Amino acid sequence: MKTLRLVLGDQLNRNHSWFNTPDQNKLYFMAEMRQETDYVTHHIQKIIGFFAAMRAFAEDLREQGHEVIYLNLDHPDNTQDLQANLLAQIKKHHITQFEYLEPDEFRLDHQLKNICKNLDLPSHCEDTEHFYTSKKELEEFFQGKKQMIMESFYRSMRKKHQILMLDGKPEGDQWNFDQDNRKKWKGSPGIPAIVHCNNEVGDLIKLLKKEGVNSIGSLQNETLDWPINLTQAENLLDYFCEHLLENFGNYQDAMHTQEHFLFHSRLSFALNTKIISPKRVIDKAIETYRNQTSSKISLNQLEGFVRQILGWREYMRGIYWKEMPTYKNLNRLENHNALPDFYWTADTKMNCMHHAIKQSLDHAYAHHIQRLMITGNYALLTQSHPDQVDQWYLGIYIDAIEWVELPNTRGMSQWADGGIVATKPYVSSGNYIQKMSNYCDSCQYNHKKKTGEDACPFNSLYWNFLSEKQAHFSKNNRMAMMLSLLRKMDENELSDIKKRAQHIMVNPQLY
Ligand SMILES: Cc1cc2nc3c(=O)[nH]c(=O)nc-3n(C[C@H](O)[C@H](O)[C@H](O)COP(=O)(O)OP(=O)(O)OC[C@H]3O[C@@H](n4cnc5c(N)ncnc54)[C@H](O)[C@@H]3O)c2cc1C
Ligand code: SF4
Repeated sequence: MKTLRLVLGDQLNRNHSWFNTPDQNKLYFMAEMRQETDYVTHHIQKIIGFFAAMRAFAEDLREQGHEVIYLNLDHPDNTQDLQANLLAQIKKHHITQFEYLEPDEFRLDHQLKNICKNLDLPSHCEDTEHFYTSKKELEEFFQGKKQMIMESFYRSMRKKHQILMLDGKPEGDQWNFDQDNRKKWKGSPGIPAIVHCNNEVGDLIKLLKKEGVNSIGSLQNETLDWPINLTQAENLLDYFCEHLLENFGNYQDAMHTQEHFLFHSRLSFALNTKIISPKRVIDKAIETYRNQTSSKISLNQLEGFVRQILGWREYMRGIYWKEMPTYKNLNRLENHNALPDFYWTADTKMNCMHHAIKQSLDHAYAHHIQRLMITGNYALLTQSHPDQVDQWYLGIYIDAIEWVELPNTRGMSQWADGGIVATKPYVSSGNYIQKMSNYCDSCQYNHKKKTGEDACPFNSLYWNFLSEKQAHFSKNNRMAMMLSLLRKMDENELSDIKKRAQHIMVNPQLY
């Protein structure tokens, strides 16, 4: 009896029970596949990050005594067809059983179920042992609910896993400290020197070039600054808990021209490849909070961080599996414009857009508010087609995997799901951007002006969006105040605003 076990590129969980003890009757199979490099045009750091992490994982398994077949992208045995690859290994090694871990993407789930039908041997699928919730638990939680509010999901997770709970109540007598987390960062508190990963990836760069794999973005000095193994992920986590957590909540929404990461953890790639588990990250953050000798980390910083992982991350996964496959095609606001070309070049006069896009191209990273309130906000205000917006987000970020990208982009950011994720669209004028960043200080546009050559494009686009899409929000209480301001607006002023917005939408390259 010999079992072939498939490990996908985002299933690098070395603490999975599969790997407890080496077993000569278990053969692990991993392969670098064109179907993964090509389903969208990815950032070069993302492709290299996945392959480097997969290679490190295979090596780690071998060192522990496991038998691993690993096919590089250009390995002669790699047919670039997953089913053919598996069938060849099954024949070569006289395999009698096939096992795989539950894929997190609909695409791969579907593909593997089909492959299993064609293998002609017993097969089964097991849990990845990564998330707090299994798919079945998520299904049960969301069943029969009209609205799937993140806050109630998050509270139930806190109770179920007894995280930051005291005698049945939330610690600090409050579930949510979000209202305290809204500070602009003005150069202090200081951000300690960043911890680097320094992974040499010259060989992988050459390989992608040789094989003609398309990519976007850049990678400096053939060095990848993302964690590719558990030790590096733990180092990043230690650095975060030691130096950044104390300011995480306060400056969570802040943006700055000189600081790309501010007090964010940069753990999303390690989490989404399952190199590190959400439980480990949360436990470590709580342990640091409890063991501190001073009280520099306050409960609201800690709770803000826990909510992102225990709440938002698991909740988004629930939405994805509940709503797929139809979710991928939703376009409730009927937006059809093309995403402006400068999303791929950062070549725009709008300082906020330039910085958010440039750092995405340089680092395959932007933090949540840059994704939501800068690039996402602009895409929605210019009424860009959600398919194009999804393609961009899915390609450009190091952490972008469809199960988490899609509900964030199509749902939270573009409101294309009609409010399944967000009760109102995340749109704003330049005022919000000025409040939370220093972008406007050095911009050639004036964030206070709605019309005129130097008026901030976000302003006219914002009022134009409300005006054109108001029918969709007529019954939405959370939009009532903005719509009432719109109705009170002087007709001539609104007409000028709309003219400017149209000009911006038709000629994005001029702005
Ligand atoms: C339009 C848009 C697209 C996004 N696409 C992705 C994506 O493809 N992959 C992805 O992992 N996140 C995505 N996010 C969520 C969030 O922006 C990133 O998780 C975060 O910026 C990663 O950086 P960090 O690790 O420094 O996060 P931190 O700010 O340090 O937060 C800690 C962790 O919390 C989790 N988290 C925080 N917010 C969310 C969220 N809204 N949904 C799910 N998990 C969250 C992440 O795992 C993150 O690593 C998207 C958000 C928006 C608005
Ligand atoms: S003025 Fe407008 S375009 Fe310029 S940085 Fe501010 S919000 Fe962005």
